[in-house]
Amino acid sequence: MIKITCLGAAGTVTGSNYLVEDSRGKRILVDCGLFQGGKQTEWRNTAPWGFDPKEIDTLLLTHAHIDHSGRIPKLVKDGFRGRILTSPPTAQLCEVMLLDAGHVQEMDAEWQTRRNKRRSKKGIEPLYTVEDAQKSLQYFSPVEENRIIDIETGMKTRFINAGHILGSSSIAVWIEDEGTPVKIAFSGDIGKNSQLIIKDPAKITEADYLFIESTYGNRLHRSFKDSEAEFLEAIQYAVSNNEKVIIPAFAVERTQEILYILGEFQREGSLPDIPIYLDSPLAIKATEIFRKNKKYYDEEAMAIVNQGFDPFDMPNLKFTPSTEESMAINQRAGSAIVIAGSGMCTAGRIKHHLKHNLWREGASVVIVGFQAMGTTGRRIVDGEKRVRVFGEDVAVAAKVFTIGGFSAHADQKGLMEWASHFAAARPRVFVTHGEATASETLADKLRKDLNLDAYVPTLGETLILEPQQVTRAPVVAPTPEDLQQVMQGTVITLEKELEELKRRLTAKGGRIQESDIDRLREIEEDLRMILPE
Ligand SMILES: [Zn+2]
Ligand SMILES: [Zn+2]
Repeated sequence: MIKITCLGAAGTVTGSNYLVEDSRGKRILVDCGLFQGGKQTEWRNTAPWGFDPKEIDTLLLTHAHIDHSGRIPKLVKDGFRGRILTSPPTAQLCEVMLLDAGHVQEMDAEWQTRRNKRRSKKGIEPLYTVEDAQKSLQYFSPVEENRIIDIETGMKTRFINAGHILGSSSIAVWIEDEGTPVKIAFSGDIGKNSQLIIKDPAKITEADYLFIESTYGNRLHRSFKDSEAEFLEAIQYAVSNNEKVIIPAFAVERTQEILYILGEFQREGSLPDIPIYLDSPLAIKATEIFRKNKKYYDEEAMAIVNQGFDPFDMPNLKFTPSTEESMAINQRAGSAIVIAGSGMCTAGRIKHHLKHNLWREGASVVIVGFQAMGTTGRRIVDGEKRVRVFGEDVAVAAKVFTIGGFSAHADQKGLMEWASHFAAARPRVFVTHGEATASETLADKLRKDLNLDAYVPTLGETLILEPQQVTRAPVVAPTPEDLQQVMQGTVITLEKELEELKRRLTAKGGRIQESDIDRLREIEEDLRMILPE
């Protein structure tokens, strides 16, 4: 029998990681992503793996997004020495993304350490460093799509275009289960039909078991045309107020799509004559990788190339890789379009642009991607009047445009259409990579509309695939005990701090100082980080 343990992206969208085990006990991984979105989720990044990385010979990687690839450097740091099979563009994108992720981890740990020192607490080790990320790159082994590749005796795989981002794949795995071949399909993240730049998702029609993502399992996107019109409106709104348009964007795919759309606006004459800044070293590098991989473009993107244009360039576009150039953007008054990362506003240069523009009436903030729970981006989308940026409260006075139609994910309709190709093969379906209601809604629809046996596994659940049935082993993966410890530790520390503050305030002549208010803000933030949404 085959066992599959859902060690990430089950009941949540981040941290994708499946452990697949055949009847001989041979183990491979599918994806190795980072959990993202506040301590409620991110404690899992440091929790035990649920397997020994030294024993894994093969990791199959669907695509370069950090929630699918971001724990690879940690996997290697913890002993993995096998092969990482993935598409050539994914390998190229991972090179820039994992090095960047290592840098982010180092900066985060440094910031947390400084903060802890002020409160005489221990320093924090980064999850992994730039050096760890660098070391992990040697294990990448690119494979072409649509070819059947031997993983080892009794195990084969094939990568199929998932149409989500450059190089993204769905993955089929064939395993000999005591003489019977069993086919398991992992959807990866599925793109939408007629997505810009890259080709539409390819059809898969057969599988015994199917793991399908459900990011937008309960939602429909607005049409692309409506979204384009709304985007133009967001630009015109800020331009008419002589303010900036701030676009938090994922460095890979979303940024290139935004450039592509701006290029179209520019060629058709609807784009106001204002500077456009791509203010993200990572997105700049990713754009170069897009330029090098034209063979993955769809017909429309190739038509632009054949007319002599670069789909990611226009006369007003400036790349601002250096910090000085980035800072100069906010010193310059007047309208401009600024594209920066991170996509969920949790790190990177976008935080500076939000600090300078979020409170400005007349500015636009254009949200073009999925915002996970617990992130600053999610708070902005949810209409909070104030958000924390660099430890300060910033009022949200800019107009927020949430544009769903640019998503790189299929919506409910797209997911159902992709799944409908399996209707004849009738695989057992496991719905993953979604927040609980999204996954449940999609599972329900798969049962009702396609008559498929669909189930939503919980995080850490092992599915035992036997010919006639699927049994579910009790959850053995990391339990929330680590989170309990984090919560307890925080409560105890905060109690001490409040005790100290109380002592000073109740002493004769005690007054609340500016520094006390800062401290109270930090306490508020600490509480927020350990509390569920
Ligand atoms: Zn993705
Ligand atoms: Zn994903």
